[in-house]
Amino acid sequence: MKRFMQQHDICILGAGPGGASAALHLANKGIRAVLLDKAVFPRDKVCGDALSGKVVSELKRICPDLTGRLSQQESQLPSWGIHFVSPAGYKLRVPFRYNYDPEADVPSGYISKRVDFDDFLIREVKKRPEITLLEGIDIASIEKTEDGFLLSDKSGNHKFETRLLIAANGAHSSFARQIAGIKQEPAHYCAGLRAYYKNVGGLDQDNFIELHFLKDFLPGYFWIFPLPGGYANVGVGMLSETVSQKKVNLKKEMLRIIATHPEFKERFAGAELAGDIKGYGLPLGSKKRVISGDNYMLVGDAASLIDPFTGEGISNAMISGRWAATQAELCLQQQNFAADFMQAYDKAVYNRLWKELKLSRRMQRLLHYPWLFNQVAAKASRNQALAETISCMFTDLDLRERLKQPSFYLKLLFN
Ligand SMILES: Cc1cc2nc3c(=O)[nH]c(=O)nc-3n(C[C@H](O)[C@H](O)[C@H](O)COP(=O)(O)OP(=O)(O)OC[C@H]3O[C@@H](n4cnc5c(N)ncnc54)[C@H](O)[C@@H]3O)c2cc1C
Repeated sequence: MKRFMQQHDICILGAGPGGASAALHLANKGIRAVLLDKAVFPRDKVCGDALSGKVVSELKRICPDLTGRLSQQESQLPSWGIHFVSPAGYKLRVPFRYNYDPEADVPSGYISKRVDFDDFLIREVKKRPEITLLEGIDIASIEKTEDGFLLSDKSGNHKFETRLLIAANGAHSSFARQIAGIKQEPAHYCAGLRAYYKNVGGLDQDNFIELHFLKDFLPGYFWIFPLPGGYANVGVGMLSETVSQKKVNLKKEMLRIIATHPEFKERFAGAELAGDIKGYGLPLGSKKRVISGDNYMLVGDAASLIDPFTGEGISNAMISGRWAATQAELCLQQQNFAADFMQAYDKAVYNRLWKELKLSRRMQRLLHYPWLFNQVAAKASRNQALAETISCMFTDLDLRERLKQPSFYLKLLFN
C-alpha cells in the first residue's frame, strides 16, 4: 500500500457523537477538518441507547430539521418518560413532560441502537464537503511536534500532521491518559454491561425507559430500555470502586437478576438474548479535569463528561464537541494554539455542565441511603405533586438543587 502523509489545521480523532458534532459545527462555520475513526460505519458502541432531551436540542443546534429527520428513522422509538423502581419496589412513573400527547407532541427523548444513531450522524457528516471522513484508520501513536501533533496509524501507512487535535476517541482514549494526564479513578468511573433481548414482557406502551435500583444490587442499577422491532436494551452499571471492593462479577449479577428476581423471571420467560453481552467503561464527570492543552482539546468520554447519576454521556459529548468547534475557530483566527488560550474551552464546557454534573454526583450518593430513596419513592408514588416535581427535575436544575437539600426530604417525610 502507498504510504502517505497529510497535513491539516484540524484533525478530529474519533467519529462518535462528540467528534461528529465537532466536525459538523466546524463545517457550519465553513471550516475544514479531517475526521478519523478506526471503525467503518455503521459500527456498534456499547451503550444504553437512550437519547435524552439534551441530545434533541444539540441535534437542532447542528441543523434545525435534524430531529425531525431522526424521528422519521425506523431505527428509533420515541420515549415519553422513565420508570424508577426503588429498592423496596416502589414504582414511580415519571413522564418527561406532563399531559403529553404521543400523537401530537414532539417527543422529549428517543431510544435508538448506537449502531444506527451514530450512523445517522455520520450520514450527515458525509454530506458536508468541509469534512474529510477517513474510516478504518486505527491511530496507534500520537507524538507532539513543534507545531502540533503527528498521528500515525497501526499499519504505518497513514500519517497526519495537525496543528490542532480534537481528541474524541472515547472512554479508552490513551491520548487522554498519556498526554492529557487524565487518570482512570475508580471513584469517578463506572463499569457497564449491555445486552440486547428480544420479546421482553411488560414493556411500557409509551416506551418509558426503566431504571431499577434493586436492594441486592446497590449502589448499582439495572435497566430495560425498549427498542424497535420487539427488542430491548438491557444492562447494568456500577461504580468501578464498588465492583472491585465487593469483587462483583457484573455479568453473573445481571444474569442472576434476570433469572431469579420475581418480576424479571416472569418478564424474561419468553425472551431471547440476541448477540453477546458486552462491557465498556463510563468515565464520569463527577470531578473537574483539565481538558485541553497545547494544540489539543478533549471531547466527550475522552474528557470524562458522563453524568454520574444517569449515566448519560451522548449529549455531553455533543455539547463539548460544539464548544471545541467554537474554540477551534478562535484558534485559527488568532493563530494561537497555546494551552493558556485553550483554557477558554474548559471554561465554556464546565460553565454549561459543571452545575448539573455536581448535582448528579450528590444524587449518586443517595444510592448509598436506600431507606431515604424508598421513602421518597413511596411518597411520590402516592403524591401527584411530588411525582411532577421529580418529572420536572429532568429539565429544571433549580428543582434538582432543591432535591439535594436535607430540608426537602425532612418536609417530604414529615408532611
Ligand atoms: C454500558 C453503557 C451504557 C450507556 N448508556 C448511555 C445512555 O443510555 N445514554 C447516553 O447518553 N449515554 C450512555 N452511555 C455513555 C455514552 O455511550 C458515551 O458517553 C458516548 O458514546 C460518548 O461519545 P464520544 O463521541 O465521546 O465517544 P464514542 O462514542 O466512544 O466514540 C469514540 C470513537 O472513537 C473511535 N476511536 C477510538 N480509538 C480510536 C483510534 N485509536 N483510532 C481511531 N479511532 C478511534 C471509536 O471507534 C469511536 O467511534 C453509556 C455508556 C456505557 C458504557
